[in-house]
Amino acid sequence: MKAFIVYWHPEPKSFNHAMFITAQQALIGHGWEVMTSDLHAMAFDPVSSRANFRSVKDPHYLRPQIEERHATEVSGFSGDLAAEMAKLEACDLMIWQFPLWWFGVPAVLKGWVDRVFAMGRIYGGGRVYDRGALRGKRAMLSLTTGGPASAYVKGGSNGDLHGILRPIHRGMLQFVGFDVLAPHTVNGPVRMNDEQRRSELERFRRRLATIVEEAPMDVGQY
Ligand SMILES: Cc1cc2nc3c(=O)[nH]c(=O)nc-3n(C[C@H](O)[C@H](O)[C@H](O)COP(=O)(O)OP(=O)(O)OC[C@H]3O[C@@H](n4cnc5c(N)ncnc54)[C@H](O)[C@@H]3O)c2cc1C
Repeated sequence: MKAFIVYWHPEPKSFNHAMFITAQQALIGHGWEVMTSDLHAMAFDPVSSRANFRSVKDPHYLRPQIEERHATEVSGFSGDLAAEMAKLEACDLMIWQFPLWWFGVPAVLKGWVDRVFAMGRIYGGGRVYDRGALRGKRAMLSLTTGGPASAYVKGGSNGDLHGILRPIHRGMLQFVGFDVLAPHTVNGPVRMNDEQRRSELERFRRRLATIVEEAPMDVGQY
C-alpha cells in the first residue's frame, strides 16, 4: 500500500511539521510505502501559468483547461507537475497536512490543486465523482485550527467543520474520484501544553495504525 502526504507549513518546527513526521513514521511502521511533498521545502510554485506546460496548444490565449488537455495528449506537463501527478496516481491513500487558514487550505496547497488536478489527466471527459480518474483511492484531511472544537460545531461561532470542509471534500477530492475519510483535526495546539500536544500526536499515530480499515464518510449536503 502506498501513501502520499502533501504538507504545507512555513515553519519546520511547527506542530504541523510534527504531525507530518508522525504520519510518515506511523505509516512506514505499519508497512506503507510513503511518498511526500513538503511544499514549503520544495518551494513549490502555486501560481498556475504557462510554466505548467512544456507543450503549447494556443500561444495567443491561455486557456488552462485546453492546455491541460493538450499536455495530457502529448505528455507536455512541466517536470514539477509531472512528478506530483505520478505520486497522486501511484498512491492508495493521500493525506493533506495543513493549518486551517481562513476556513480553507493555505494558498500554496490550493495552488498545488490548481496546477496538479489537470483536466484530461486527473478529471474531465465525464470522468468525475464516481467515474473520476482517481476512484478507488482514499483521501484524508489532517488539519490544525486556532479555534477550539466548541467553535466548530453546528451553532458554534464558526459552524460545523464538515460544512467548512465540504468545498474541499466534495469540490476537490470527491470530484476527481477519491473516497473521503473523516478529517483528522487538532483544535488549538497553540493553547495546549507539551504533554497535551504529545498526546495529540499519539492519537494521530493510533488512528493511522488502523486507517486501512476505515470506511469512507458521507460528505453530505450543506
Ligand atoms: C493566515 C491565517 C489564517 C488563519 N485562519 C484560521 C481559521 O480560519 N480558523 C482557525 O481556527 N484558525 C485559523 N488560523 C490559526 C491557525 O489555524 C493555527 O495557528 C494553526 O492551526 C496552529 O498550528 P501550527 O502548526 O501553526 O502551530 P505552531 O504554532 O507551529 O505550534 C504550536 C506549538 O506546538 C509546539 N510543537 C511543535 N512540535 C511539537 C512536538 N513534536 N511536540 C509538542 N509540541 C510541539 C510548537 O513549539 C508550538 O509551541 C489562521 C492563522 C493564520 C496565520
